[in-house]
Amino acid sequence: MTQRSASRILFVPLLFLWIASGVFASTTFAAEQAASPTLQIDCDFPGGNVIVERIEGSDVFLRQDPRDTPRFWFYWYFRVREAAGQSLTFHFTQGNVLGVRGPAVSTDGGETWSWLGADAMDGASFTYTFPAEADEVRFCLAMPYLESHLREFLGRYRDNPHLRIETHTTSRKGRTVERLRLGDLDGSPNHRVVLACRHHACETMASWALEGVMEVILSDTPEGQWLRENVEFLVFPFMDKDGVEDGDQGKDRAPHDHNRDYLGESIYPEVDALRRFVPAWSEGRLRIALDMHCPYIRGGGDRKGSNERLFFVGGPSEEGWARLEEFSQILEDVQVGPLRYARKHNLPYGENWNTLEQPRSFGRWAALLPGVKIATTIEVPYADVAGTPVTPDSARAFGRDLSRAIRVYLDRLPVEPFVDR
Ligand SMILES: [Zn+2]
Repeated sequence: MTQRSASRILFVPLLFLWIASGVFASTTFAAEQAASPTLQIDCDFPGGNVIVERIEGSDVFLRQDPRDTPRFWFYWYFRVREAAGQSLTFHFTQGNVLGVRGPAVSTDGGETWSWLGADAMDGASFTYTFPAEADEVRFCLAMPYLESHLREFLGRYRDNPHLRIETHTTSRKGRTVERLRLGDLDGSPNHRVVLACRHHACETMASWALEGVMEVILSDTPEGQWLRENVEFLVFPFMDKDGVEDGDQGKDRAPHDHNRDYLGESIYPEVDALRRFVPAWSEGRLRIALDMHCPYIRGGGDRKGSNERLFFVGGPSEEGWARLEEFSQILEDVQVGPLRYARKHNLPYGENWNTLEQPRSFGRWAALLPGVKIATTIEVPYADVAGTPVTPDSARAFGRDLSRAIRVYLDRLPVEPFVDR
C-alpha cells in the first residue's frame, strides 16, 4: 500500500465523523490530495453555505448544507483560495443545485458577480479555470444580497429626508433587523405600501428587485416625486435576518419557516414585531402589501407560475384576484426593463403549489388588513426570465417597473381625507 492510499483510507472515516459532527461546514478545508496542496474551500463569511466532502485531484465533491430545512433545497455559497491558474471541477452530490445559467461567480471578494454560463456545467457539476492572478474566487447559487449590500445602498441616500432607517427588532441571534420608511414621511400620506423581502433567506435575487423599487421612490423622476408626495412605504428588507447572514436555506425550515409564521403565536421576532407594527401604522391606508420572493430553482417553461417567469401569487378572494389582475395589466403596460413580465404567468389560488388553506403567510395575513387592495407575493426567478439573465441590474430594472405600476395603480384610487382621531 502506498503512503498516498493509506492516508486516504484514514482520511475518509475522519471526514465522515467531522461531517456528522456538523463542525465541518464552517471550517476551512485544506485539501490533502488536490492539485495545489494549499487549496482552501470554505464558507466562513456572511451568507456562506457549503459542506466539502472530499477532493480527488482536480475534482471537488461538495454539497449544500440544509441545516434545519428537512427537505431538499438548493442554496450554497463558498469561496476557493490558493487555486490560481488551476482548473477544478466541482461536483454537487445532493441533487442538481445549479441554476440554468450555472453558478454565479465573483473574483473580487463578492463585490460583483456574473453567471458562469450553462456551457461550464455538466449535470450537477461545473468546471472553472481560475485566473492566474485570482487569490480568491467565490461561487454561489445566485448573486448574494446581505446586510452589507443594504448598507451600501442606503449609504447613497444618507441625507435624504425621504428615507428613514429604523430598528424593527432584534433577531433571535441578537442582530439588528432593519425597517425602512421611504416617501411621504410627514404622517399623513394619501396611501401606504408595505414591502417585505427574505422571508426565505436564500432568495437573494428578490432583494435586488427591492433595491430597484426603492431607487425610484428616492429618484429625481416624475414617478419618484409623485410617490414621495403621496405614499409612505414601509420596507422590511430581511424578514429572516439570521438566515440571510448565516447563509441558511431558510425555506421550509423546521418547525415552519418565516413565511408560515403569521397564524397563531409567531415564533420569529421579525414576524411577531411586524404583526404588531403594521396594523397600527397603516391607519386603514395600507393599499398594497407586497412580499418579494424567488420561486423554485428552475423549470416550468411558459406556464402559469413558471420558475423561469416573473409572476404574482393569487389569494382565495375573487375581488382580490380581480384587483391583482388590474395591477398586473398596469405592470405589463408600463414596464420598460429587460425582464419582461406577463399577466398570464400569474399563479391563481388553487393551482400548482398555491393551495395554502389558512392565512399563515405574509401575503394571506396582509390581505385581511383593513383598506388593503392588493396583498400578494411577487416571484423573481433566480437566473432566467424567458431567456434573459436575471442579474442585480436586470432585477433592479424590474423593481423600477414595479414602482411605476404602483404609482399608476395608486393614482387611480380615491383619496380619503385624514381626520384627527
Ligand atoms: Zn420564498
